[in-house]
Amino acid sequence: MSVFEAVPQAPPDAILGITEGFKACDNPNKLNLGVGAYRTEEGKPLVLRAVREAERRLLADPKQDHEYLNMGGLPDFCRLSAQLAFGEGSAVLKEGRNATIQGLSGTGSLRVGGEFLSRFYTRSKVVLIPTPTWANHRFIFEKCGLEVRQYRYFKQETRGLDYEGMVEDLKAAPEGATVILHACAHNPTGVDPTPEQWQGILDAVRSRSLLPFFDSAYQGFASGDLDRDGAAIRLFADAGLELLLAQSYAKNMGLYGERVGALSVVTSDAAAAKRVESQLKMVARHMYSNPPKHGAAIVAIILSDPELFAQWKVELKGMADRIISMRQQLFDALQQVGCPGDWSHILKQIGMFSYTGLTKAQVENMTNKWHVYMTMDGRISMAGLSGAKCGYLAEAIKDSVT
Ligand code: PLP
Repeated sequence: MSVFEAVPQAPPDAILGITEGFKACDNPNKLNLGVGAYRTEEGKPLVLRAVREAERRLLADPKQDHEYLNMGGLPDFCRLSAQLAFGEGSAVLKEGRNATIQGLSGTGSLRVGGEFLSRFYTRSKVVLIPTPTWANHRFIFEKCGLEVRQYRYFKQETRGLDYEGMVEDLKAAPEGATVILHACAHNPTGVDPTPEQWQGILDAVRSRSLLPFFDSAYQGFASGDLDRDGAAIRLFADAGLELLLAQSYAKNMGLYGERVGALSVVTSDAAAAKRVESQLKMVARHMYSNPPKHGAAIVAIILSDPELFAQWKVELKGMADRIISMRQQLFDALQQVGCPGDWSHILKQIGMFSYTGLTKAQVENMTNKWHVYMTMDGRISMAGLSGAKCGYLAEAIKDSVT
């Protein structure tokens, strides 16, 4: 008998379960809209040309070796990542008020940030997450020993932002609590605040001295414009707030499996940033010692070479535009098949996902009868869709809602 006899089977992962179901299905019309990764019009993974070129240069460089990185990662990568998020002229950067370390993509950066807060942030142990949010948020912060609570975010009736509910909840939050904010392309809803609403959210955050923790998993991938997708982060940073930021290069550079990300802590003065950085490195040291090199080196090459940077921006916009065009094509197809209801939220939502508003029973019909694989909350990945499949999907939705 194993000493691990009492270990129970973990529940299956919701998203991976969908992929399993999709693989096992032999219907020729099957469609996988559960996947959280970009796919081409032909349904294939995409390696960006800028990434291929950076990788080629890296491999051709005889000075490259496989030595350890420092606990905080590749210094150029950290500096350039902070610049990408906060903007070139940022006062935070000029005044040296950021502590930025390399993280294991978005997830690892959030985890190190959570662990840092758990060890050193004494004002409040409460972390507020939106309802709904990316499923891992709750687990990440709970595993750091923090108390996770929720704030209202999505309004089912309008399939848009519950702005009043959100602001009300933030204003009623414990003083100093940490608030998780999706920088852009909110997952799973695809619903983002407008610039005016971000200002209102900033005021609410200030009124309770909350600590914003931005999760930026989609900069440039949402609108196709890096500055626009970074606007909320910059609004808060330029307003002089102390904050945390987790960045991921999984989607915007297609570096999913390379696990490249960054964690920044913005402080009110440079001396605090130095001390914070020393402790972030300690957190990393105790968890995984130091981050992997390859992906971060690719990112650093792209961000520092004007030609590759320009090429990346074109490719990034290409991905964002394809997703935006899928929204329009699906919306048009729904009109064409005469699907009842208002589907304008498909056009208004942004980023990889769309929250269709389909109920669990309707999703079951989509999967069982139409072989469309998607999460039970009605979320579909626009990146998994192609123009050729929009008509079929629209028929499936129509059948499921009538
Ligand atoms: N945060 C959000 C909101 C996400 O949607 C994702 C990925 O789906 C992540 C973080 C983490 O992604 P990764 O760890 O692959 O960078």
